[in-house]
Amino acid sequence: MTATFAELGLAETLLTALTSEGYTTPTPIQVATIPLLLEGRDVLGIAQTGTGKTAAFALPILQRIATTKTRYVPRSPRALILTPTRELAVQISQGFATYGRNMRFKRALVFGGVGQVPQVRSLANGTDVLIATPGRLLDLMNQGHVRLDFVEMLVLDEADRMLDMGFIHDVKRIAERMPKTRQTLLFSATMPKSVEELAAGLLNNPERVEITPAATTVERIEQKVLFVTKENKRPLLAQVLKHHDVKRAIVFTRTKHGADRVAEQLEKTGVSAQAIHGNKTQSARQKALEAFRRGDVRALVATDIAARGIDVDGITHVINFELPNEPESYVHRIGRTARAGADGIALSFCDAEEVGYLKTIERLIRQSIPSHDDHAYHAEGIAGMRHSTSARPAQKRQGQANRKRQAYQGANPGKSSANYKGDKRKRA
Ligand code: AMP
Repeated sequence: MTATFAELGLAETLLTALTSEGYTTPTPIQVATIPLLLEGRDVLGIAQTGTGKTAAFALPILQRIATTKTRYVPRSPRALILTPTRELAVQISQGFATYGRNMRFKRALVFGGVGQVPQVRSLANGTDVLIATPGRLLDLMNQGHVRLDFVEMLVLDEADRMLDMGFIHDVKRIAERMPKTRQTLLFSATMPKSVEELAAGLLNNPERVEITPAATTVERIEQKVLFVTKENKRPLLAQVLKHHDVKRAIVFTRTKHGADRVAEQLEKTGVSAQAIHGNKTQSARQKALEAFRRGDVRALVATDIAARGIDVDGITHVINFELPNEPESYVHRIGRTARAGADGIALSFCDAEEVGYLKTIERLIRQSIPSHDDHAYHAEGIAGMRHSTSARPAQKRQGQANRKRQAYQGANPGKSSANYKGDKRKRA
């Protein structure tokens, strides 16, 4: 039986907003999380971006704000959402604006890389919701511009990524300044030990909710690997992007410099492209994202961290111009397509040096990615390496993949590896 948003216990103002947004049915993470949060429970959610998790926490927070009016306390939020990147912060803020469009509430946004004065001003008289990256928030707290002793609800979004990015101490320091009686929600795509420990310290008797990426998105994505020499990757990319099926694509590179070079090259061959990565200013990143959203730019060339959480609907293709050396990044990358129920296509370019990475990825997702050979730059020699033992990945990486897989499985005891297995299902 499929639940409706009304059955989850959401108020009419929110239901109307969801209808105008075109949301008809809640996603699995929303079905599992919203009633718990409305009851006031702490939740440990294992879910990645693309599963609808923003609405899963934003809707109950808005409902609480709408139904329990309190006086604004200067410099204090009622709900705090901590998220690792500015892009995610902006997207979460837009989500709150969308879902709360029919109610009155205040929200503030705090992240680094821009002047702090407008941020300080937006907090001065108190706010309902504060969405922040940890570094800048701590900075503002230390200057006395923010206080957290009246926070009722805390959300840690993408906790694994926050820890990867070195925010652990900042997050702990921030949490120390909040009342123990708050409601806490932690979301993470993966549940390594470091996140488990963080959760144990911050959550109070949490309910665990697990939505694995493999079960929700990865299996809906048509994945293909294209074997090609390093030199031929750029002409191959131009050829792929010129195909009319590719309406909106994210192209992944391993380095920032690589992203710039690929974007420039694409522009030269007549494909509108923009690079997005950590060396770009905040406004340049926003501009690139907006152009991509509007459809003025067909290809966004990104590094893993910059692309994390990019929330643009209608991405038809994810192209791994370079395979990630961290197999989990593959799952995050391809999750940019096939958002909220849509199908998507992920193409991975694999050169001779990357065959080892490919094997490690396949081991993690427990799928063999089918090869697409029918292109002008197909390198049969490299394709052959896939099955030879000489191209085995380094022992260390294999070991890592095994541990990661065990971590996934450990987080999903009932589901074992079935979510990662099985041939690509037939597409209609
Ligand atoms: P998130 O995982 O929060 O990044 O959400 C992924 C995408 O799904 C966003 O573009 C949301 O607007 C969209 N979305 C979230 N929930 C729903 C829903 N119940 N129905 C349709 N789209 C949704």
